[in-house]
Amino acid sequence: NTVYLNGRYMAAEEARISPFDRGFLFGDSVYEVIPYFQGRGFRLQEHIARLEHSLRAVRIPNGRDWVAILDQLVELNGGGNLSVYLQVTRGDSGSRSHAYDAGLEPTIFACCTPVRDFASLPVAEVKGLAAIVTADLRWHRCDIKSTCLLPNILVLQQARDQQADEALLLRDGVVTEGTSSNIFVVRQGVIYTPKRSSEILGGITRELVLELADENGIQYQETDIDYEALTTGDEVWISSSTRGVLPVTSIDGQAVGNGEKGPLWARMFELLTRYQRKLMTGS
Ligand code: PLP
Repeated sequence: NTVYLNGRYMAAEEARISPFDRGFLFGDSVYEVIPYFQGRGFRLQEHIARLEHSLRAVRIPNGRDWVAILDQLVELNGGGNLSVYLQVTRGDSGSRSHAYDAGLEPTIFACCTPVRDFASLPVAEVKGLAAIVTADLRWHRCDIKSTCLLPNILVLQQARDQQADEALLLRDGVVTEGTSSNIFVVRQGVIYTPKRSSEILGGITRELVLELADENGIQYQETDIDYEALTTGDEVWISSSTRGVLPVTSIDGQAVGNGEKGPLWARMFELLTRYQRKLMTGS
């Protein structure tokens, strides 16, 4: 297991980070998770653009050749299907002071773990997910992919305690997203999803789902979704880069629609799978 740390590739056991690193002390850092399928980055440029948005937003210096760093890491780990984790912290202040010097050298860490290719699963074998709805405890800059994930962790655990797979978050009466996914509701053949704002992460797969909808004449609308709209839709889906698009078949113990995976979900799954196969074969 080879990891990348501050310009060097090394065995994971050899990687050392100072306890005064601001990522450790304060969560003063941002991250990305980028799946590689058959050794190729999935929407790599989009992920890098989002990383650069996060860095700019928190004023951590940028300017690395991210693609080269990650491609080499994947190669050193044998390619194939890997989920790459990349974290950039503001660096090591040498003490626990909230204020920082602008000249700090960021700490850059990347590693990868095997990931299943979501498009390899036959549609019939995809399982419907159970979700709960709970309060969105996060800050108001969820467009920044920050490593301060305590609220996400707590509500996901709340879901797990109730034998659910994901927690959907409600803020000021509207659904924002899942703890690590974006949300879609289908009603009468139209897809509804919250519009991009600082209350949600602009998901790479969310963008792709809307792109595929556009290309295939499927109607969608970016709009507020309240609890009523969420729980009375025909279908509910979540999306993320490592999981693709997955059907949610129960919310707070109640069936979504008829409790089965929906037909429009199956169509979108197929479109996504086709997109990904094309990406892999380069054709
Ligand atoms: N929303 C949150 C809070 C996330 O953490 C993630 C990804 O893990 C997503 C949405 C989905 O984003 P993407 O499709 O870029 O993986």
